[in-house]
Amino acid sequence: MNHSADPYVYLSYENRDVLTGQCLLDLLGFPELNRTALIGLKHSIANQRCHLSSGFQQQEEDAFYRLPLLHSLTCPARAYFREFNSVFQLNRKIKLAGCAVIMSADSKVLLTRRTETLSLFPKNWVFPGGRLEMGESLEYCAIREAAEETGIDFEISESHFKYRGTTVAVTPLFIYESSFPCIGPPKAQHLIVFFTINLNFSSNEIGLSLQRSEVDYAVWISKEDYENINRGIDFTMPGLHYTHENAHISSHQLLGIAPNQIGEGVAEGHKHALDMIYQQNH
Ligand SMILES: [Zn+2]
Repeated sequence: MNHSADPYVYLSYENRDVLTGQCLLDLLGFPELNRTALIGLKHSIANQRCHLSSGFQQQEEDAFYRLPLLHSLTCPARAYFREFNSVFQLNRKIKLAGCAVIMSADSKVLLTRRTETLSLFPKNWVFPGGRLEMGESLEYCAIREAAEETGIDFEISESHFKYRGTTVAVTPLFIYESSFPCIGPPKAQHLIVFFTINLNFSSNEIGLSLQRSEVDYAVWISKEDYENINRGIDFTMPGLHYTHENAHISSHQLLGIAPNQIGEGVAEGHKHALDMIYQQNH
């Protein structure tokens, strides 16, 4: 692991850093697409850059992903460009992030609530994840962050991922351009790679201990729970608070895209992951 002052990995396109404010779908030449495009992402683990492209080929030494790239239906970078015919650009490079959609043997997924004191996306319900650091793969990053935030006792190395002696299946799902805030010129942008992480244990067998600086609540939800949330049905689900106390999570907390009427809801990219897993449409 690299211990320099700046450990993060940045996005590049045509050998240049991409700066915050640029809609990546516009940059890649997909202005007509509202939502998805299949793109290439090449990550040389020894480098501090991850390369974006609409169509290059895999090279042996690289981790390579060919996945759909999505952004918000109201992508603030695109909206700014359409309104002012120029890119709102901050001299701030775009970081990479890995995100872990952890699925239990009883087909539930683990959502966590971002602590309300965080500057980015407070009180949003999200899958565990965080920024990619130099020297690690995106898969490693997603599982490392999940272990830190949820206390799930993963065994991780660059060659394998295990949980309580059993192999953990890691599958890339899609890539998401995340902008903050949701409206107005973007002040922070990340390119997130979502992975499904399948565990061979039921949700009630998986021990959790939340990292209070990042997440304050967690809940396992099933496909049926998710469908009932989307129908607006009022019910509660058993969850966990960082104090280890049991918590009752209301369906209203998870209803719609964040921020919803009560300032919670699921962050948009994460909601897309839920829809993809449970095969629903917005
Ligand atoms: Zn965009």
